[in-house]
Amino acid sequence: MIDLHTHSCVSDGTETPARLMESAAAAGLDVVALTDHDTTAGWDEAAAAVSRTGVALVRGTEISTRVVEAGSAISVHLLAYLYDPAHPALVAELQRTRTARYERARRMVDLLAQDHPVTWDDVVAQTHDGATIGRPHLADALVAAGVVASRDEAFATILHPGARYYVPHYAPGTAETVRAVVAAGGVPVLAHPRAGKRGRVVSEGTIAALADDGLAGLEADHRDHDDADRARLREVAADLGLLVTGASDYHGAGKLNRIGEHTTDPAVLAEIAGRGRLEILSP
Ligand code: AMP
Ligand code: FE
Ligand code: FE
Ligand code: ZN
Repeated sequence: MIDLHTHSCVSDGTETPARLMESAAAAGLDVVALTDHDTTAGWDEAAAAVSRTGVALVRGTEISTRVVEAGSAISVHLLAYLYDPAHPALVAELQRTRTARYERARRMVDLLAQDHPVTWDDVVAQTHDGATIGRPHLADALVAAGVVASRDEAFATILHPGARYYVPHYAPGTAETVRAVVAAGGVPVLAHPRAGKRGRVVSEGTIAALADDGLAGLEADHRDHDDADRARLREVAADLGLLVTGASDYHGAGKLNRIGEHTTDPAVLAEIAGRGRLEILSP
């Protein structure tokens, strides 16, 4: 069993990377990818847990990117696997995004504080040191303050992109990021390309253009896709010669997603491993 998309408390998951490896073992996974948002900071801790847990580790990142279609920006999450974490251009872009996320979170809290009993300190209390900050941490502070009952409710209401408290943040272009990941020896895969509940999704024309830029695959089996989405993504992947992956997008207790609830075919992982500059770390 292979799960290629999970988050730890190094971004907006709730478990430490070591604990996440234990959760992977308990769920019977053979291979897990740690793909925290815009960071590689959890890789070493997860790597240190490989032999103890018996779970192989794919080192990855879910990179926040943006593509402009018909004059408006669409947020696109790009999974990048097995790339050189010291590649200067990629390191600089990830740092820029993390800084922008921090400033954006502060601005959102300023706006939220006009109407709700929440402070920046409340958010810091919900965030591990050095973590890539995101709306889930704001949601946790709002839950702790009694403003909403859950992360889910926060995202459906005051943290929604349509809410007056929402602030966007800088993210690099999707095409540029695909090329940068390939240049860093990595394997780029579009995360949940048809997850429409989060906002607008990319067109098939954009996916085709990204394939020309070096995109390697599409994450089709994901809980935010219905059966029709998954079937269509398989057709698009077949047309463009892209790999198809499946994964849980596990966030610990921060989301309903159960680790291993969707998985990737071993032949697809072998292809990813063959293209990536880093090794899969095996027990
Ligand atoms: P941000 O990147 O800061 O705009 O926040 C988006 C992140 O919030 C995504 O990575 C999701 O993992 C997470 N997220 C989105 N919707 C929900 C939800 N309903 N409950 C918990 N987490 C969510
Ligand atoms: Fe997340
Ligand atoms: Fe995502
Ligand atoms: Zn994710």
